[in-house]
Amino acid sequence: FSGALEAPKQSIANGAVVTLQSAGGDTLGTGFYSPHSQIRLRMLSFGPSTQSFDRDSLRHRIQQAAKARNHLISDNNNMLRLVSHDADFLPGLIIDRYGDWYVFQILSAGMEPWRQDIIAIVRELFQPAGLVERSDETVRRKEGLEPRKEIVFGELPEDGRVNGIENGICFQIDLWHGHKTGFYLDQRDNRHAVRLLAANRHVLNCFSYTGGFSVAALQGGAKSVISLDESRDALAILENNLAMNAVASDCHQSFRVDVFKELRTYQSEGKRFDLIILDPPKFASSQANVKRACRGYKDLNRLAFELLHPGGILITFSCSGLIARDLFQKVVFDASLDANTEAMIIQQLTQSEDHPIRLSFPESFYLKGLVIRKC
Ligand code: SAH
Repeated sequence: FSGALEAPKQSIANGAVVTLQSAGGDTLGTGFYSPHSQIRLRMLSFGPSTQSFDRDSLRHRIQQAAKARNHLISDNNNMLRLVSHDADFLPGLIIDRYGDWYVFQILSAGMEPWRQDIIAIVRELFQPAGLVERSDETVRRKEGLEPRKEIVFGELPEDGRVNGIENGICFQIDLWHGHKTGFYLDQRDNRHAVRLLAANRHVLNCFSYTGGFSVAALQGGAKSVISLDESRDALAILENNLAMNAVASDCHQSFRVDVFKELRTYQSEGKRFDLIILDPPKFASSQANVKRACRGYKDLNRLAFELLHPGGILITFSCSGLIARDLFQKVVFDASLDANTEAMIIQQLTQSEDHPIRLSFPESFYLKGLVIRKC
């Protein structure tokens, strides 16, 4: 981070590969330099050997990252994150696979000049039917980069949607308008966990997006599922996802609402559920709004505790990297106190293994989930 570095003696170009030295002159590693961002250096290697970064190392790193995830691909699973940026020592590069289609994102100044090489390498290594660039995240601005979105090659259907399969469930993915690269791949294992917990339960899926947890719950034998989201497009895809999988869609209802308001309404109507899923968007985007984020999480979780039958299950997530697991658990505990509820954690969840947590980059741990039984 900027505060840990001495100002460079001469100006360094945005995105240049630089060597990092300690005050004593020891070489600590190499990284992409970003003069605009508080994250001044994104590490490409640690240790005394100053490896250069060139096309061969880019290709090698992409290939290694994909190879380490090969075992996740099967007839029942054809979508996954192949490259997970800094955790794969490819700072600012994401490559996701959705069936025959691939999507990439460049989020750092250092990766930006490698765009043409990335495209050629993806083509050569994976032979995709099509490739989409979704470098349209606003974080690019922190690196001094404009957003960019492009169908690089392939015939993407007019509506931007392709199909993929996850744990045997078919999903429609909107590669063009969808969030992130189209789908929340990091929740794969957790959707499976929901499937295993849903039998015979009345389920409320809050912040459903395109219904990943909803379809999983129905496949797991849920008695009913209600999905809540504010996005019309996401709920339209959710309906298609129900239709594509032989699930009892007459047991499902979706509502385009603000979750906070809707939960308060349910509360005043005395509605109760057996399983509630809370997977809100990232509430804390900077240190300055961690406190506010905690209030949001507390409010939501309190409402959820109140809406659960005794013996009911709350599956609650935080994808804010700035909120540590301990803090999240404390906030949920606070929420249970406010709801006058005794509860116990029966399972802890995290991001799927294609979003690895690099020990030397602990910030790559961001998704925390708690499965809680209300006593
Ligand atoms: N659980 C989903 C991912 C959820 S992403 C999955 O497995 O795919 C968060 C979702 O929350 C987005 O779809 C966004 O549209 C929705 N959202 C954000 N704020 C909301 C609000 N206040 N009320 C309802 N939905 C909201």
